[in-house]
Amino acid sequence: EPASEEGELTDGFHLLIDALKLNGLNTIYNVPGIPITDLGRYAQAQGMRVISFRHEQHAGYAASVAGFLTKKPGVCMTVSAPGFLNGLTAVANATTNCWPMILISGSSEREIVDLAQGDYEEMDQLAIARPFCKAAYRLNHAEDIGIAVARAIRSAVSGRPGGVYLDIPGAMLGQVMKAAEGEKTLVKVIDPAPRTRPSEEAVARAIDVMKTAERPLIVIGKGAAYDQSDDVIRELVETTGYPFLPMSMAKGILPDTHPQCAAAARSLVLKESDCVIMMGARINWLLSHGKGKQWGEPGSKRFIQIDIDPEEMDSNVEIAAPLVGDVGSCARALLDGMKGTDIAPPKEWLDAVNSKATANMEKMSARLQNNNDPMDYHAALGVLKQAITDRPDTILVNEGANTLDMARSIINIHKPRHRIDVGTWGVMGIGMGAAIAAAVETGQQVLAVEGDSAFGFCGMEVETICRYNLPVCIVIFNNNGIYRGDGENWGGGDDPATTVFVKDARYDKMMEAFGGKGVWAKNPDELRQAVEEALSSGVPTLINAAIDPAAGKESGNIGNLNPSSVVAQA
Ligand code: ADP
Ligand code: MG
Repeated sequence: EPASEEGELTDGFHLLIDALKLNGLNTIYNVPGIPITDLGRYAQAQGMRVISFRHEQHAGYAASVAGFLTKKPGVCMTVSAPGFLNGLTAVANATTNCWPMILISGSSEREIVDLAQGDYEEMDQLAIARPFCKAAYRLNHAEDIGIAVARAIRSAVSGRPGGVYLDIPGAMLGQVMKAAEGEKTLVKVIDPAPRTRPSEEAVARAIDVMKTAERPLIVIGKGAAYDQSDDVIRELVETTGYPFLPMSMAKGILPDTHPQCAAAARSLVLKESDCVIMMGARINWLLSHGKGKQWGEPGSKRFIQIDIDPEEMDSNVEIAAPLVGDVGSCARALLDGMKGTDIAPPKEWLDAVNSKATANMEKMSARLQNNNDPMDYHAALGVLKQAITDRPDTILVNEGANTLDMARSIINIHKPRHRIDVGTWGVMGIGMGAAIAAAVETGQQVLAVEGDSAFGFCGMEVETICRYNLPVCIVIFNNNGIYRGDGENWGGGDDPATTVFVKDARYDKMMEAFGGKGVWAKNPDELRQAVEEALSSGVPTLINAAIDPAAGKESGNIGNLNPSSVVAQA
């Protein structure tokens, strides 16, 4: 450390690194450049894990997924203006998903920005960030770093988690302080996300609703996965005996093969249930806003909702019994309140759910064995389903349209937080960032199942995967297009949606370009062999799985969200 006559010195670079490390934030998802290049270098020299990406959006997605997996804010670091804006997409996505992350971005000189005098990458980033994140702060003085990092952490993880922006004008990093004084400014955050137990009355109200339920259901969401109270959730589900429906990223909190899992009877339970316990899941578009045909007769249900955010209640439908608190505390409070009361569901309901689920699973199972040439989604997914069953520690990342919809319902997940997907926005391009974060944060093998279109939004990050030699196997469902690969435009010629991509593109060669393994798999046997090899070796692998261009469906399962023209002129 540099010394002066008054003793050892520190500066903004080192205080920022010390503040992060003091709070257990040891990984930075980074894209270097002015003015944060040296910050990344010093961070690595001081023992932090610095993962440098090719594009900020994916570094940001990785940070947000790290937040989801660890309950600590993932840290992303970007350069000014365009780099910042690229990272901001991920902050907005993190906030939408209720995942904690901190975007630290360098910015240019305040004096020049404030007078709009035209600096290198000039932008008033703090003002721009505000509407896209949960909280945004600027650090003007090195002596404020400790408190600013503490605030950023607390904002990201307390209450409903979200994305936080920390603006770092380049000049601040160079500000010098005496090391001893600097150390005193650091803050270790105590109990950043305090557990909160719901009130007695709220619990009693919920139990009263449960007592009268004849066809109860528990819907488990990714807020429950985030909470990491897996044991209490399981105890609640098993003690009530209620069927449960996992939202996509809640799959695996209880295994999809659990006898109470109603995933294969989704339509039936949504329609017929009369009491629904929402557990860390919002009643948003993914659940048709709790209304419409899918939910049966209007007014036929009473909802109990567990959520950390009191404002979530009544967002779409009336909540008969709101339980505000963290999932673990609320589930425990329900278990305590249930003692000595009869809330057991009638046998007819459980039988109805089970027989529907069994019938649907049987129907599906035959399709997963088919050997159609060209390979269809079901044949390929049958192979991947078996791979995850054989290796349940593998973390599944999944995006695409048909690739997402079908993999979600076909591939069983056996462990909590082992499925990461497009989240609340249903956004494409999260795959490589999510895969990298999953591998980096957990050390587990990752299997990323990607539509060819979805992969296109993040594909360059295969270089990052190869460079860090991460145990990631990417399987691209290559049907030569978006949704399908065989469309013709209404005006004749190629369709700008479905036939946009080069036919039989060799994505596998991208992986080989960076030293990874590439495989072109044209049938289920080739796919099985390649996946088996990748998952057992941990070698970065990209399997280009040829899928029938005619097998997909426009917009997958959400084609109904497309507006249609009344005039329809070609
Ligand atoms: P899904 O997409 O799986 O249905 P959502 O993201 O819509 O899940 O909902 C997650 C909900 O969980 C959010 O409303 C959020 O406020 C809530 N939440 C997040 N963390 C916790 C927690 N620790 N305890 C309780 N609720 C939480
Ligand atoms: Mg496609």
